[in-house]
Amino acid sequence: GSTIGILGGGQLGRMLAVAAAQLGYKVHIYAPDATSVAAEVTAHHSQAAWDDEPRLAAFAAACDVVTYEFENVPVDTLRFLSGHVAVRPGVAGLKIAQDRLEEKTFVAGLGGRPAPFAAVPDRAALDAALEQVGAPAILKTVRMGYDGKGQARLRTSADADAAWETIGRHPAVLEGFVTFAHEFSVILVRGIDGEVRFWDSPANVHEGGILATSSLPPPQIIFDQQDEARALMAKIADELDYVGVLTGEFFATEEGPVFNEMAPRVHNSGHWTIEGAIVSQFENHIRAVAGLPLGSTATAALPVVMHNLIGGGIETVPDLLADPACHLHHYGKAEVREGRKLGHATWVGASPKGSVLDCSSVEV
Ligand code: ATP
Ligand code: MG
Ligand code: MG
Repeated sequence: GSTIGILGGGQLGRMLAVAAAQLGYKVHIYAPDATSVAAEVTAHHSQAAWDDEPRLAAFAAACDVVTYEFENVPVDTLRFLSGHVAVRPGVAGLKIAQDRLEEKTFVAGLGGRPAPFAAVPDRAALDAALEQVGAPAILKTVRMGYDGKGQARLRTSADADAAWETIGRHPAVLEGFVTFAHEFSVILVRGIDGEVRFWDSPANVHEGGILATSSLPPPQIIFDQQDEARALMAKIADELDYVGVLTGEFFATEEGPVFNEMAPRVHNSGHWTIEGAIVSQFENHIRAVAGLPLGSTATAALPVVMHNLIGGGIETVPDLLADPACHLHHYGKAEVREGRKLGHATWVGASPKGSVLDCSSVEV
């Protein structure tokens, strides 16, 4: 059979590997980490550095197509692999998504509307940026941020020094604080022939910068703004000649959808599609990169609630298993750490009300 290579060894890779196996593929994980929850469900695993060219070449030779689940795979790694094997999605989307400044500039150039922003290459530039953007604002490192890490909020310009220290004095971008009604995401899959399909946009609630829940149906304002956000994401995907799942995060505001950021990969806010859609983001990503026909993205039943199990939240597993309507996903990570995503729970056509999880932020 054919082999799909996946760069990165986390839970996204694990869920992609399960979907690939279901479609009859072998999966080869390539990741530098000593432990990989994705490699645990596959037979083939290269534990090697991103710049280990002999190991990369051997990996490429073993695969029919290579994809990635980690947005910080070095661009040079992808370029090297592209010389040996088909890599989907390609380098373009990854490169842009690794750099918040490049990403916002690119999206604004396509008619998208990010929050007001200014480049902060050094401490002096932060004062100028505050003049331009105003306060309150959020300072974010240009590179490597996730789950709200590498960010600091500024209530007034008096917080500038503290914010600069908090983010470790790295090159950054200052963003105006957006007053939003709700957050949502657009999750799309683009096939090898350019066909684009969208899943329904869930309402996403973040706690401390980390996604806590995604739910459907979303509040009306998200329905109303979904089409404009979809049009932008389709334009981005076409411009990048993107193949696979692409996600855009948005703020629903009184002035319309504001683009927050994009992820060139399957996304946490799409985990509900495993049970809640006809074909999941993971299966459709594999279908797309393997050149197969895309499956339906339609929602299977409402309501849908996906709740992340973060850090100590994993201790609710026995209670969740006692709820016959709950689909449990345990990532099998060896180490429990505060703020770490360790699993998720999904309800489809059923309510999590009365569950041990605090679902009070979910309005379904
Ligand atoms: P991810 O894990 O989604 O990649 P990240 O570290 O890249 O997270 P962001 O998406 O930039 O972080 O921000 C995390 C959350 O912080 C957002 O989902 C939103 O709740 C809040 N946030 C970020 N930027 C802004 C902003 N400009 N205005 C208001 N809230 C914001
Ligand atoms: Mg991000
Ligand atoms: Mg985000």
